[in-house]
This record gives sequence, structure tokens and C-alpha cells, in this order.
Amino acid sequence: MNTQRAADRLAEEAVGLFEEQMGRSPRWVVAAPGRVNLIGEHTDYNDGFVLPMAIERRVVIAADRAAGSALDGRARLISSAEKAPATIAVDGEIRPGEVHWSSYVQGVVAGCREAGLKPGPFEAVIHSDVPLGGGLSSSAALEVAVATLVEALAGRTLDPIAKALLCQKAEHEYARMPCGIMDQFISVLGEPDRAMLLDCRAQRAEMVALDDPSVTVLIVNSNVKHELTGSEYPQRRAACEEAARILGVAALRDATLEGLDAARERLSEEHYRRARHVISEINRTLHAAEALKGRDWQTVGRLMYASHASLRDDYEVSCEELDLLVEIARSIGVAGGVIGCRMTGGGFGGCTVSLVESRKAEAVREALCRQYGEKTGIEAAAFASRPAQGACVLRRA
Ligand code: ADP
Ligand code: MG
Repeated sequence: MNTQRAADRLAEEAVGLFEEQMGRSPRWVVAAPGRVNLIGEHTDYNDGFVLPMAIERRVVIAADRAAGSALDGRARLISSAEKAPATIAVDGEIRPGEVHWSSYVQGVVAGCREAGLKPGPFEAVIHSDVPLGGGLSSSAALEVAVATLVEALAGRTLDPIAKALLCQKAEHEYARMPCGIMDQFISVLGEPDRAMLLDCRAQRAEMVALDDPSVTVLIVNSNVKHELTGSEYPQRRAACEEAARILGVAALRDATLEGLDAARERLSEEHYRRARHVISEINRTLHAAEALKGRDWQTVGRLMYASHASLRDDYEVSCEELDLLVEIARSIGVAGGVIGCRMTGGGFGGCTVSLVESRKAEAVREALCRQYGEKTGIEAAAFASRPAQGACVLRRA
């Protein structure tokens, strides 16, 4: 389906669900996109650089002020992705509670109130085509959509950076996920035909054109998520902090590969390899942004494969299925239309991102899914996306 039609249909479905549940039309419809990170993985919490783009998959919210006074001080939420509806506080003292899907919404409402935006009681239907937990940042899309809705309800907009940071804080405090700033920044600031080079230390975004019609970004969801102990992310963060401390730098952003090698005997093998990934990945990300500007696709592709190898071998956050998808992509190769491929997102499952020749994109998509299915028995989900628009209001009363 044509992507604009898919977006329109998603919004129409959200409106339909709202009408069905609430017995009237929603006064507001807002949307915020998920994202895919082209390169720069596990660099954000090391003060490094990332290079994401917003994707043509989004969270849509249809909403209206609460009818009557039954919802005094609260909002009622329905999500098409969750069985049970939820109620959250919009007034009085708001505090983090047990983590639930509505915690993301609650946290953003709390942050908006701190920023002086009062939504008042409302009813909302959340409808999304960003896969949940697939590494395409459904969580940030949800947060940013909620912030956009609160702006509409309150009749005042936030500074975009403040808006992204408030959403990140909601995820930290209310969903207890110590994420970086990438997901929320790109969901707020995404632009059509542009990727975003984000300096996570300066919190500064530079848009980089990705508008060559001859190349396409292809996202393949492995549809696996390995439930590990759950401590891998904090462990990786701690290893990076320890490596930075030993190297005598504020963050691995400030280290160089030469400095790392000079300090090799002072680092454990594990710390050495974790740091080598981060430092080299930051270099690759900056290099890739330059290559993107010059439409040097061969270089971008080479950097993507190198990123994957580093995540697999040094950072150890890949898994069999992601490695397999990258190997299949590599075997299709330039002759078959694949320029580069890597795992994307936190790892241990989720998606790969590939850069492919547009005229061969459909054949590549078909081959990747078929070969992956034959080898694993798992059905992958794949789609192409152009860089998409950030959060917006689709309908306003
Ligand atoms: P990712 O951001 O990679 O998709 P996360 O684990 O960070 O994965 O976030 C997924 C969580 O976000 C879900 O488990 C759910 O709690 C919440 N979420 C995302 N989208 C929705 C939605 N449409 N409806 C309800 N909750 C959602
Ligand atoms: Mg997330």
C-alpha cells in the first residue's frame, strides 16, 4: 500500500475506534513516528553521535475533552494494542507508579504539567502501526504523540527540544527505562527526506539529506526478542563508564582508538572490546553522515556492515537471527541490490536496517524474508520507508 494511504487509513481507523467507543467524533487527531537508526548504536549514552530517521510508521491518537464530569481530574485511555483500557491522573499530584503501558502517557502528562501545560480531563484512543518492542521505538512515538496531544488540548506548544527531553524524562521516571535522547528527538524533529545527525552531548541535531530516489531504506523485523536477564543494558552502560574512568575521560566520546590501545593493559578484555565498539562506532557515524551528504553509498554500506560486526563481536548485543539476516543481505550483495546492512536498535532481536537500490528493493525484500523463513521457520516482517515527518496535529477542533 502507498504510504500516504496507509497513514490516512491509520488515522481514519483511530477516528472510527474513538467514535465506536465514545459515541462522538474526536476533536483532535495527532501522530508521531517511530524511527530507525541508520548507524550509531549504543553511542548515545556515551555522549556520542547517532544517525536516525523517522519512519513511515506512527502512533496516532484520536482524542477529545472528557464529556461531563465523570472523569474529574483524570483521562481515559484505550489502546488498540492493549486489551484493557486505563485511567491516568491529569490533575493534582502525579507520581510514578507500577510500570504499565499507560505509564508512558502518565509520565508525559506529568512532564507537560510541570512545563505549565494543563490538558484537563480527556478521552483518547491510541492506534499504531509501529511494532511494540521491535526496536523501532514505539515507546518514544507514544510519548511524543501524547505530548503533541497535550499541546493541542492546552492550546500552547512547547519548545521542540524541551518537548523531546520531557518525553525522555517520562520514559526514565515512569517506565523506568534509562534511554538516551535519540528516539524522542527524531520523533519530534524528523523531516521528510532527511536523516538526523544528533550530537547526544550537545543535544544538537543536524539534518542530513537522504533524498536520492535511487536508494531505499529497508527495515526487516526478525520477529524475535530474546528475553535475557534484563540487565544487559545497564551492564553495557556500566562497562562503558568504567572504561571511560580508566581512560581518564568524561565519556567514551572523548577517547580515541590510539588512546584505547595505549591503555590496553589497564583494561580488562571485556572493557577493552566494549570501548572499542563505542569509539569506532562514533567514528563510523560521523563518517557515514559525510558519506550520506556526498551520496557515497558504497562507503555508507561498508560502514553499516562494519557497525554490525562491531556490535556482534565487540559489544556482543546481536543474536543468531540478526546475524543471519545480515549474512543473507551480504550474500544478495551489490549485484542483487544490497548496499549495506546492520542490526539496528538495542539488539538481542528486533530489526535490521538495509540500504538497497530502489529498483531492486522489492526483490531484496522478498529474498530476505524467504531465505530467513527457510532457515529459521520464523516469518520476518519487512517494509521500506522514506525519512518521514516528525510529530504533527492531523485534526484540530
Ligand atoms: P520499542 O520502543 O522498541 O518499541 P519499548 O520496550 O521501549 O520498545 O516500548 C514498548 C512499550 O511501549 C510497550 O510494551 C508498551 O508498554 C508501550 N507502547 C508502545 N506503543 C504502544 C501502543 N500503541 N499502545 C500502548 N502501549 C504502547
Ligand atoms: Mg523504546
